[in-house]
Amino acid sequence: MSVTLVLNASYEPLCVVPLKRAVVLVLAEKAHVVEAGDGVLRSERTSLPIPSVVRLTHYVRVPFHRSVPLSRRAVLARDDHRCAYCGRHADSVDHVVPRSRGGQHDWANVVAACRRCNHRKADRLLTELGWSLSFAPAQPPRVVAMLVGLARRDPIWERYLGLTDWQAVDEATAAIA
Ligand SMILES: [Zn+2]
Repeated sequence: MSVTLVLNASYEPLCVVPLKRAVVLVLAEKAHVVEAGDGVLRSERTSLPIPSVVRLTHYVRVPFHRSVPLSRRAVLARDDHRCAYCGRHADSVDHVVPRSRGGQHDWANVVAACRRCNHRKADRLLTELGWSLSFAPAQPPRVVAMLVGLARRDPIWERYLGLTDWQAVDEATAAIA
């Protein structure tokens, strides 16, 4: 199934929707095509480049805060599959403060880690190892959770996701139904 990245009028990523939904938004002039994918959609009266990224014509404010479900895949997506300790490829998740030492299972206490670092760290604290983090782990924007599990995503999306300040988009959700 084809999907489209939806940006707010401010260019912040809001959500990922099925292609059909994106086309409806564009035809209703609620959104403009920012990046076209391959191909053209044709109907009797009109033709439209397949939208890969669309931007809403009006800013959508999302007043309520929704949390992003914490999962191994979502943590790996947030950290771009890079180990928080050594920078190598990561395929496991580590509690910075081990659960056995009172660490919580929440976004601020989990990072992607390679198996080697995970094994070396075991149930010790960073201070005990002389290790440090180069970033403060936090809940990612909802769009990260939306990308998790998508079989395909357009590489062109990265530039729009890259504009994003993690915290700023934290509030944004798909309120354009
Ligand atoms: Zn590592």
